[in-house]
Amino acid sequence: MGGQVNLQAALTGEKRQNLDIQKIRNDFPILSKSFNDKNLIYFDNAATTQKPKKVLDAIVDYYSNENCNVGRGVYTLSIKANMAFGRARETVQKFLNAEHTEEIIYTRGTTEAINLVASTLGRALVGQGDEVIISEMEHHSNLIPWQILCKEKDAVLKVIPVNDDGDIDFDAYKNMLNEKTKIVAVTHISNVLGTVNPLKEIISEAHQYGIPVIIDGAQGIAHEKVDVQALDCDFYCFSGHKMYGPMGIGVMYGKKKFLEKMPYYQTGGGIALGVTYQDITVERPLPFKLEAGTPNVEGAIGLEAAIQYLTEIGYDDIIAHENELLDYARKKLSDIEGMRIFGSAKKTSSIISFLIGDIHPYDVGNKANEFGIALRTGVHCAIPFVDKMKIVGTVRASFGIYNTKEEVDALYQALLQVKKAEWSVNRPKDRF
Ligand code: PLP
Repeated sequence: MGGQVNLQAALTGEKRQNLDIQKIRNDFPILSKSFNDKNLIYFDNAATTQKPKKVLDAIVDYYSNENCNVGRGVYTLSIKANMAFGRARETVQKFLNAEHTEEIIYTRGTTEAINLVASTLGRALVGQGDEVIISEMEHHSNLIPWQILCKEKDAVLKVIPVNDDGDIDFDAYKNMLNEKTKIVAVTHISNVLGTVNPLKEIISEAHQYGIPVIIDGAQGIAHEKVDVQALDCDFYCFSGHKMYGPMGIGVMYGKKKFLEKMPYYQTGGGIALGVTYQDITVERPLPFKLEAGTPNVEGAIGLEAAIQYLTEIGYDDIIAHENELLDYARKKLSDIEGMRIFGSAKKTSSIISFLIGDIHPYDVGNKANEFGIALRTGVHCAIPFVDKMKIVGTVRASFGIYNTKEEVDALYQALLQVKKAEWSVNRPKDRF
């Protein structure tokens, strides 16, 4: 059980946290706001995190002092904006420990990053009868792009089974790999169960066949220290907004050897240095070749500030704090009669998914909202995985650096009220 492993670490004092949570909370203006006349308790960090003042200030500062389109002007302001944009990319490179700055490609987020890989590398590598491997726990963003690619190419999408604990069946995965496999694409951390996948092992197995591995890092990036060279992953995709940065900015890290061979993703301004009416005559080098159009400079600057913020706090302390919170929540919520917590994988992180008796998850979410508690309810953009569990959806509490045990206690109290309530609320008809 992942929870037990984490508790053990907490008890033995291994990687003890050393955070001043109140100080951290003060960095986030929204956390002092009230909703429904209640102080906000924000447990929807897997959907998006709140933003610290450092990120907000960086964006305002950029627009107040440096705003200009990048890469196109010879005047001082343009050069300043260009330098800030380039510096932000270097910050991302160092943060991921990527070998080269040009391996950092900006996207709108994880979804676009995966679509980018699928529609460029995927189209180039996958042919009729070939195979692409994903896992059962994938978010739609790491399922549908591969599904569509396989349909287009008449290839086969293979899906690694996930057991009742929430771990992938590693033996089944190993047996799936063969010379027809062209791509492996798996999530770092499950957004439904919080399972942390054994990426190193997954990657090294695939590499024995020379297969590139794409990691969906949407949930990984804020909760695990990512070193792309140590992992040896070929692609790592993530979103700024899930790591305390702005929305609309994300990153596709890719090994240079792949990026150099990848065809264009989108075309237009910024990707070519020579063009005739018939053709592109001179390509612009990486990373610009894969970033057509005006980039999200504000997003890159905000993402840089988020990286600096997290780095200043330190990942060891962040992970220790979140693990302690997760263990606490698992134990506390288990006391509630009828509580069903889903998943007890070997390693888990920051997410607890549950149902209480046969109460609909939307009803739990609605009631918790009356107490100012923000929970995510439903299928979490992972409909096949939720369907496999034969449930309508789950209630998900996901933790971030600013959450506290007191907030978990408040959740516990709210859930006791949920059990007592009469249900007559309007439920959304769509599953999301
Ligand atoms: N992958 C996982 C595991 C996610 O949890 C999410 C979002 O919740 C995504 C991909 C998509 O991220 P975005 O909507 O930021 O592109």
